[in-house]
Amino acid sequence: MRLVFLGPPGVGKGTQAASLAADLAIPHISTGAILRQALERQTSTGLEAKKFMDAGDLVPDAVVLQLVRDRFSEPDAAAGWLLDGYPRNLDQASALDQLIQELQLTLDHVIFFDCAETELVRRLSGRRVCRNCGETFHIEFAPPPESGHCSGSGDCEIYQRSDDAEEAILKRLEVYQRETGPLVEHYRGLDQLIVVDGATAIEDVAQSLRGVLGLTP
Ligand code: ADP
Ligand code: ADP
Repeated sequence: MRLVFLGPPGVGKGTQAASLAADLAIPHISTGAILRQALERQTSTGLEAKKFMDAGDLVPDAVVLQLVRDRFSEPDAAAGWLLDGYPRNLDQASALDQLIQELQLTLDHVIFFDCAETELVRRLSGRRVCRNCGETFHIEFAPPPESGHCSGSGDCEIYQRSDDAEEAILKRLEVYQRETGPLVEHYRGLDQLIVVDGATAIEDVAQSLRGVLGLTP
């Protein structure tokens, strides 16, 4: 299965992608997570991306396309993938389309998670993430374990992303509306779009998602 998760920041793409990808035994490819990892490792790509990410802006298309291209060439991607956070504008959508054609693949579905903006701000401002494995929590809706440790192995440090500060949140929502919003109509026009209500509880969204994909619970 090859899937794209589309939706505003904070709607729950990463949360749903982690469990669905595990169920389907396909890699969860989050361009945001790959960029944060590059930044942690201080690679040239990470350092180049930093100023855009801190400001809540999109990292240049060519940089992100190369990351996706490299990730697709890893062995586990032969089984399929779940792309989370890419594409994020029309140019990225056409670059992805070209890449898929070049690799002689097909995209099965684009899932759009819908949610009102006030709820997104609430989710983003309470988000906490493990710096090591990327596991995502919410201070109210999905609290981190009392031990302070996530379920991943290795060192665990639960932190608040700097772009989850209020100013950057508002900027990201604005960038989403302008740059990414048009992809909804783009994929609807191609008859590839499936809409899921992202405003319900985590388990309910997970259930709707499996329902629209025809997966048994
Ligand atoms: P995205 O990847 O779309 O930016 P995340 O999956 O990181 O979103 O979720 C944003 C925040 O909202 C996280 O703190 C997560 O724990 C929380 N969250 C995700 N889905 C829901 C939901 N359905 N209801 C309440 N909180 C949620
Ligand atoms: P969110 O949880 O808000 O959806 P992500 O983790 O997907 O955020 O992305 C964090 C940041 O990484 C974005 O604000 C942007 O700077 C950068 N980024 C991630 N994916 C892309 C992309 N496809 N194109 C450009 N920039 C990206």
